Amino acid sequence: MTALSGDGPDRARRAAGAVVGSAVGDALGAPFEFGPAGAFSRRFPEGTTGGEMCGGGGWDPGEATDDTQMAVLVAESLLERGGLDLPDMFARFQRWAASEPKDIGLQTEQVLTGGLAWDDASAIHFQTTGRAAGNGGLMRAATSAVYFAHHGQEATTAAARRITALTHGDSAVWEGTAVFHELVRVALEGADPVAAVPRTLALVRPDHRSRYATVLADGWHPDQATEFNGAVWPCLGSAVWALRTTGSYEAAVRAAVDLGGDTDTVAAVTGGLAGAWYGVDAIPTRWTEPLHVPLPGSDGRVLRLAELLDLARRLAA
Ligand SMILES: [Mg+2]
Repeated sequence: MTALSGDGPDRARRAAGAVVGSAVGDALGAPFEFGPAGAFSRRFPEGTTGGEMCGGGGWDPGEATDDTQMAVLVAESLLERGGLDLPDMFARFQRWAASEPKDIGLQTEQVLTGGLAWDDASAIHFQTTGRAAGNGGLMRAATSAVYFAHHGQEATTAAARRITALTHGDSAVWEGTAVFHELVRVALEGADPVAAVPRTLALVRPDHRSRYATVLADGWHPDQATEFNGAVWPCLGSAVWALRTTGSYEAAVRAAVDLGGDTDTVAAVTGGLAGAWYGVDAIPTRWTEPLHVPLPGSDGRVLRLAELLDLARRLAA
């Protein structure tokens, strides 16, 4: 990660960077989902200056997926309800899930369409299946991380856990989102999020700490992952690795997509962190120009850069 000269971007540019940076990563990675490592850079070698928002796999060029769609739902619930209203957020997720989004996580879909109450659905799903360690809570967290950052460390990590628990009953996943929220909070303060990893690990519940310590360690590489990167641990570890080992927003997100696998989500998480650190002005305009976020279940609304910037501004206010 490159240290920034002077004070770096101001807080507002960093907040915008987190929200837009996550959406851009999502849209850039979407056409490469489930592909092999290196597919992105074979098609778009380093130095490429256009066309990377290529579309494919059912996605239009610049189209953001469920990761960003759900992040927008989180944002609009927080803003319209004036804070954390979990039943409202869950109802928004349900309306969206019932409107045939192009993609939706398996676990998220089961929880949202199972007809159970908001405060039971994910826990019962987890008890029944024993499987809930996907990255689906982490992927949508850029907006809530910006919103709760100025409420402080305790509030932002608590909110991360509760929002994640709406769809994911495994507390291991809550901790990953809590780490992400805290690293974004630190970056918005203008402090180095990679340097904050060790002290952030101390906030992780003791029974989940060692697994996060492994994937967030300085020398960890995504090749060492013991699960597919659709699981929460390697997804977060890969995002921090991408930030740690590159020197720009662009390079970090390229590295994330190039890992293959769950490319949209790994790049969305990476883009949220890298955008918070480098600021929105570091995101190439050739990537933000085609960016758009369709919102199934909301009368055909499509958010573009201007709407995302407005959302980020209100979240950070
Ligand atoms: Mg997705």
